[in-house]
Amino acid sequence: MTTIALPSFSDALGRYEPVIGLETHVELGTRTKMFCGCPTTFGAEPNTQVCPVCLALPGALPVANRLGIEATIRIGLALNCSIATWCRMARKNYFYPDMPKNFQTSQYDEPLCTDGWVDVEIDGETVRIGIERVHLEEDTGKTLHVGGATGRIHGATESLVDYNRAGIPLVEIVTKPVPGIGARAPEVARAYVTELRDIIRSLGVSDVRMEQGSLRCDVNTSLNRPGEEWGTRTETKNVNSLRSVERAVRSEIIRQAGVLDSGGTITQETRHFHEDTGDTTSGRSKETATDYRYFPEPDLVPIAPDPAWVAELKAALPEKPSVRRARLREDWGIAELEMQAVVNAGAVDLIAETIAAGATPAGARKWWMGELARRANETGVELSAVGATPAQVAQLQALVDDGKLNDKLARTVLEGVVAGEGDPAAVMTARGLEVVSDTGALTAAVDEAIAANPDVAAKIRDGKVAAAGALVGAVMKTTRGQADAKTVRELILARLGVEG
Ligand SMILES: [Zn+2]
Repeated sequence: MTTIALPSFSDALGRYEPVIGLETHVELGTRTKMFCGCPTTFGAEPNTQVCPVCLALPGALPVANRLGIEATIRIGLALNCSIATWCRMARKNYFYPDMPKNFQTSQYDEPLCTDGWVDVEIDGETVRIGIERVHLEEDTGKTLHVGGATGRIHGATESLVDYNRAGIPLVEIVTKPVPGIGARAPEVARAYVTELRDIIRSLGVSDVRMEQGSLRCDVNTSLNRPGEEWGTRTETKNVNSLRSVERAVRSEIIRQAGVLDSGGTITQETRHFHEDTGDTTSGRSKETATDYRYFPEPDLVPIAPDPAWVAELKAALPEKPSVRRARLREDWGIAELEMQAVVNAGAVDLIAETIAAGATPAGARKWWMGELARRANETGVELSAVGATPAQVAQLQALVDDGKLNDKLARTVLEGVVAGEGDPAAVMTARGLEVVSDTGALTAAVDEAIAANPDVAAKIRDGKVAAAGALVGAVMKTTRGQADAKTVRELILARLGVEG
């Protein structure tokens, strides 16, 4: 393989226009699987949640889970789609060891929901993303490659298959191609997946956790020269976080520009995204629809949702996340740009829950957008996985408000919380970090500071009260920041016989 010189992102965008598209799989949170009654609990012992239907034993017949269909329709409605009045499931034929039937029950030319849209905000500007289709299908099992160092098939001595996931309902959401967004393509991709996740979470049909795989994203990217036809697209798989969605688009734009600059052509293929390097590497060449030999599933009756039922589902949709955000922005009394930062940090729900747990909007926002956001950034994790819960942040702020912690001590306590040492109150006690405001305990330190700084003490006695700051600082130092500054100041002035 020859190495190609890569242009910078902005150079690439100077010569080419990107078109992106996103295919997102959402694992529904139904209690049972899509075509049988097996439970769907995450993390169960391998192959304990299986039956003849999801293992595809001869003679077993599937029956559709009504709640899976209902959830798909609700997602479609929330994405402004039209809902089919009659459609069928289809068999998508291919062999894979973790797919016991050798076909996936999916939908092909008759998806349940079509032609919708989602609006996302980028720097105060609205970008509308078209939704091509929302269809229902089933998940595969999981293959585990063991004996090798990497967990990949290469170097493994054996492969084990767990069918617990086989047959769990999946909803696939496919966007229309999104052209004309230029350098904002990576941001738009991330904003779209964020919005989609928030919408689906608001419906309560999935826990949409990227790190657990209940929301999985494939990113299509192509480049073309201005005025020319769209280029050949690649499909990047394994994009397991919001941050990775953005990075995957960015690195694929740079890679493709490098190939095109050197006179090469882009191969239509799937590529794998690597979290560690931020690069993509070539996977398999992409199958086309004819490779799958789709045909209507003969073992399932067609799906024909009653329009009256669909209308009921539509009327019962929850408040849209975008509407909710506007309402929260108002409640929290912050500007549009600040709210945008909260959204980008993935902190909307965390802050809302912290306020619900008793914190003020300012107090909740301060911790999530300050110390915790910084930490999440540094360690490359989502804010929700940073190690502190809204209840803990609310408790931390309460300790500050009660004067038990000052800001500096609170940050140390938060470190302990994030490190898994327990709730803020427990960390404060265990580490002995509580602010000391007991005058008896502070008097000795105050006297010591006065004795050590006779010049300063003299100034204060002469009425230069402002000089007390230096003595407060000295006391804070000897008490390792744990003295209550206000009490210390009062004590100093009292000891020197000066009125505060
Ligand atoms: Zn089953």
